[in-house]
Amino acid sequence: MYSLLKKYRQQLLLSFFLVLISSIGFSQSVNSVHRKAILVDTHNDCLSGQVLEGRDISVLLTKGHSDYVRWKRGGVDIQFFSVFTGETPRKKEGFYQDALQEIDSLNRIILRHPDKFDFATGYQEARKKVHRNKLVAMIGVEGGHMIESDLAKLDSLIAKGMSYLTLTWNNSHDWATSAMDESGAGKPLVTKGLNDFGKQVVRRLNDAGVMVDLSHVGEQTFYDALEVTTKPVLLTHSSVWSICPVFRNVKDQQIKAVAKNGGVICINFYPAFISKSFVDAKKYWEGPGKDSIRAALQQLPEYRGETESLNQRLSFLVQQQLDKSLPGIKEVVDHIDYVAKLVGVDHVGIGADYDGIGFVPKGLEDVSTYPQITAELKRRGYSNQALKKILGGNVLRVLKANRP
Ligand SMILES: [Zn+2]
Repeated sequence: MYSLLKKYRQQLLLSFFLVLISSIGFSQSVNSVHRKAILVDTHNDCLSGQVLEGRDISVLLTKGHSDYVRWKRGGVDIQFFSVFTGETPRKKEGFYQDALQEIDSLNRIILRHPDKFDFATGYQEARKKVHRNKLVAMIGVEGGHMIESDLAKLDSLIAKGMSYLTLTWNNSHDWATSAMDESGAGKPLVTKGLNDFGKQVVRRLNDAGVMVDLSHVGEQTFYDALEVTTKPVLLTHSSVWSICPVFRNVKDQQIKAVAKNGGVICINFYPAFISKSFVDAKKYWEGPGKDSIRAALQQLPEYRGETESLNQRLSFLVQQQLDKSLPGIKEVVDHIDYVAKLVGVDHVGIGADYDGIGFVPKGLEDVSTYPQITAELKRRGYSNQALKKILGGNVLRVLKANRP
């Protein structure tokens, strides 16, 4: 009996060590492929969040999703910084001046920290500047409204190093209509798609070697742009409609059209674009759910006449409910997997949208977490070569095709 127990214990120990060794081996091989790959993220909004609020992204921050230290922990090599302004300009001088303000803010960061950041436009420069201890910064202008329907302003943004132009943000403008408006979730439209001036913009971008970004655009604009462009396009921060049917995501037909064009869809991590059950939870807890919590709090004597503390407690409780519904790493990787299975591994990338999103998936809290994506893809059997493409190789291919 004793010897049987001893044998059993030995077997248990042996299998424990085998699991341990194989998991160390697994994480070493994930780490190795992650570090060897050139990791490109095509969309980050920290210029309009962190930087505009005066935070120094060259040091480790406790707020926001992005800073130099966390980018490097995450193994990020190239980050596209989104130059953004909303439907109403921040400055009375207008959208174009807002864009210049953000480009200036990026230039200042690079100027002050040449040991940490480097600026690039185009494939050659970006590829040459990739460095273990530096982050290569590239510019993506998010919203065609920033050129104020003026080709001279478009040229000026190109001269300042714009690497892609997102034809619209959520707002439609003079020459292109957005997904929000085309889908009926925004303002009513008289006509949809790209007009003649919009087509001229696409041609100008092609000629100048600037990538056309079709995230945020309506389906009509999407297909109009694909008809005009002679170069592969990007969708810098969009996810899959079949998994999470919201207007910002792309349908199977669109994914197939991007693949035919040679372009890449970079998956957005925003939980409300990733998980339908999170979308439903958000709808409930920001609507009737919130009202019922408020009504319950109002019954409590400690909140009588204390509107501020009641509201604080209310938003804490709503947040707590929403946190329970957040998707995780697997759900995000499902989107990457879906595109890879539908059209092949050459047409998918990463555009997390950090610092532009109010919620983040569990396990993907900030820019230091990208190795989790690599680990999950590897677990699903993706080869090292496929991983390199997904992590950045595909975007580099599009960058090169636009400006060899
Ligand atoms: Zn966006």
